[in-house]
Amino acid sequence: MGCGTVEQNENRPKVLIIDDETVSIDVLSGLLRPFYRVVSAKSGESALARLDTQTLPDLILLDVIMPGLDGYQVCERLKLNPRTRDIPVIFITSNASEEDETRGFEVGAVDYITKPYRPGIALARVRTHVELKRRGDLLERLAVLDGLTSIPNRRRFDQFLEYEWNRSQRHAHPFSLLLLDIDYFKMYNDLYGHAQGDACLRRVAEAIATSMPRAMDLAARYGGEEFACVLPETHENGAQAVAQRILGSVRALKIPHAHSKAGEHVTVSIGVACMIPNTEKHPLDLITRADQALYKAKRAGRNQMSTLGQVSETEEA
Ligand code: GH3
Ligand code: MG
Ligand code: MG
Repeated sequence: MGCGTVEQNENRPKVLIIDDETVSIDVLSGLLRPFYRVVSAKSGESALARLDTQTLPDLILLDVIMPGLDGYQVCERLKLNPRTRDIPVIFITSNASEEDETRGFEVGAVDYITKPYRPGIALARVRTHVELKRRGDLLERLAVLDGLTSIPNRRRFDQFLEYEWNRSQRHAHPFSLLLLDIDYFKMYNDLYGHAQGDACLRRVAEAIATSMPRAMDLAARYGGEEFACVLPETHENGAQAVAQRILGSVRALKIPHAHSKAGEHVTVSIGVACMIPNTEKHPLDLITRADQALYKAKRAGRNQMSTLGQVSETEEA
């Protein structure tokens, strides 16, 4: 049965049906197709393989009885994989016993639909769980953004740093971190007021974010008037280049700061650190080094970037 490519491109929620019986897939997709993008797989194995590479569905309808992996086993695997664990799974059964249903919930299903389908009820169950999933996704997205500046927040920074650190460790790639701090920002607040201080933070955040066009980099608000940039697969030279670009972008904003001792405008100081992660190191070591480098930049007069010098090279050897 054809899933038209036009439908595939729509922004409607995506539902995956996993069922070994074509008839069963046909009936369900006929029911859902007016409202959802429907894709199907005829075995648990092929579905799991495809989920590894394709955009994830918002909901999975999973037949319990199938040759090869049965529905329970497929569901267990989905729930073990961080990538697929949050996709709601509804089991499709014909006359399941109480024990069967309980087992389904135990392996992580959110609901049951029984064959033969009662269309109104099947659709209502699907709608409810797709809606819950979408709301959950939205909350999750908001939970990792900073409310004031709309760039990723500290929580997202922590997650990203750990994830990328581990990835770099596996490949023995260099890994860089920038810590940024606005210069004399207490004075700025004192002179121009807190509201203007907030506006300044927003503009600086935007300048930082737009100075980092590489998709794999992350700029986050680290706290207060401090920001952090995670630069996976980046040597110290590359990190210094990004830091210089940010210094330039912030200067170019030309936000007046009459009480700054570092210039007439708002400026930042940046600490640059680079490491090749290994099992004896921890992301905290990188943060500490970047923080020390930031302190060095502050002491040297602010409105500049600093590194801790050659230490990392010899340590890495
Ligand atoms: P330095 O050049 O050494 O970094 O001096 P500083 O004044 O920037 O550093 P300090 O840490 O003494 O002051 C940071 C100030 O940042 C104090 C605080 O009022 C301000 N700040 C932190 N978060 C916010 C915020 O969300 N909004 C505003 N308006 N100000 C903030
Ligand atoms: Mg500070
Ligand atoms: Mg400061």
